[in-house]
Amino acid sequence: MTTTGIELRNLRKLYEAHGHASWAVDGVDMTIGAGKFITLLGPSGCGKTTTLRMIAGLEIPTSGQIFRDGEDITDQPVTDRDMRMVFQDFALFPNMTVEENVAFGLRVKRKKGQYSEAQIRQRVAEFLELVHLKDHALKKPHQLSGGQKQRVSLARALVTDPKVVLFDEPLGSLDANLRKIMQLELIRLHRELGKTFVYVTHDQDEAMAMSDSIAVMSQGKVMQFGTPREIYDRPANRYVASFIGHAHIVNAMVESQQADAMTVRLENGDRVGLQGTPTVAPGSEVGLMLRAEDLAFADAGAGAIGGKVVDSLYRGEYVEYVVELLGNAGVVHVHARTDLPAVAHGTTVALSVNPTKAHVVVH
Ligand code: ADP
Ligand code: MG
Repeated sequence: MTTTGIELRNLRKLYEAHGHASWAVDGVDMTIGAGKFITLLGPSGCGKTTTLRMIAGLEIPTSGQIFRDGEDITDQPVTDRDMRMVFQDFALFPNMTVEENVAFGLRVKRKKGQYSEAQIRQRVAEFLELVHLKDHALKKPHQLSGGQKQRVSLARALVTDPKVVLFDEPLGSLDANLRKIMQLELIRLHRELGKTFVYVTHDQDEAMAMSDSIAVMSQGKVMQFGTPREIYDRPANRYVASFIGHAHIVNAMVESQQADAMTVRLENGDRVGLQGTPTVAPGSEVGLMLRAEDLAFADAGAGAIGGKVVDSLYRGEYVEYVVELLGNAGVVHVHARTDLPAVAHGTTVALSVNPTKAHVVVH
C-alpha cells in the first residue's frame, strides 16, 4: 500500500468581496505525513474550508505551494490530484440508489478502461460492506437516515481508492450520539485503509478524539500544529489555551524558575508552583492557564490559592463551580465530584492546583 504525504508552503488566499480584500488563508505551512489523520480546527471563518479546497485543487492559491510526495501540484487540475472530498451535506445523487451512488466514480473510470463492470460490482459490494450498508444497496438517499447518507458518501469517496481523503465537517449535520458513532467509524476506516485523511471541524472534542495531529487555526493562520496531547497540555499561546478545553487564563508574573519548575505570583499575591513548563525569564508577565479538572477544593495554606464561590452548575458527571479569585485576580472554574458536600454560593474557598497540568503562556 502506498500512502501520500502533503506539504503546504506559505499558502495564502486573498478574497475580494464588495471591493474589500482580505486574506482567508494567510501563510499556512504544514507537513501532513503519509497515512496520517490530520485535522484543521478553528472557529467559523478561520480559513479551514479554503485551505482544504486549495489542497483539493478546487481553489487556486494566491501564493504559496502545495506538494504531494515532493511533487509540486500547486497548478495541477482537480481531476489529476487523486483526492476525494466528503462534505457535510453528503452531496449524494438523489435519483440514484445507494449502489449507483457508490459506483458512480468507478463508472467514470470505467470509461477510461480502468475497471470492468464485474470489478465495479465487486468493489461496490466490498465498500458497502466496509461502511455497513450492504442491506441498503437498493435504497434511494431519501430512504436513508443522516448517518446512513454519510456512510454512502464515505463509501463513494473511498471506493475509487484516492490517495488522500479530504473531509469538510462531515459529521456537522448529525446529532450528538450519531456523531460519536461516526467518529469511531472514521477512525476504524482510517486504520483499515491507511490513507492520508485531512479533516476539517470546528468541534474540538472531535478533533482531539480522532486526529494524529491538529492544526489550530485563527484568521487564516495556524496558531499551533501538534498532537492532541501537546495542544491540550502545552498550548503554545493564549489563543490555543483558551480555545481548547475551556481553560481559564489569569494574569501572573514569573517569580522564579529552576530547570522546569516555576513559581508564579497572581495579582492578589497568591503563589502557584508549576512543573514541566516552558522557560520564561523571572519578572515576565504571563497568562496562567487553569482548567477546571486541574483545580480542587483544598485546605487553606501553602500552595493553595484563595477564592469565593459565585456560581455552581450541576453537570451530572460533576459539579462545576465558578470561583472568583480573591483580590480580583481572575475567575476560574472548578470541577468537583457530585458525591462531595455542596459548596454554598458566597463561600470563601482555597484551591489546590495540579502543578504538572497548570501551564503558562507568554503570548
Ligand atoms: P471556515 O471553513 O474556517 O469557516 P472559510 O475558509 O470558509 O472558513 O472562509 C475563510 C474566510 O474567507 C471567511 O472570512 C469567508 O467569509 C471568506 N470567504 C470564503 N470563501 C469566499 C469566497 N468565495 N469569496 C469571498 N470570501 C470568501
Ligand atoms: Mg468551512
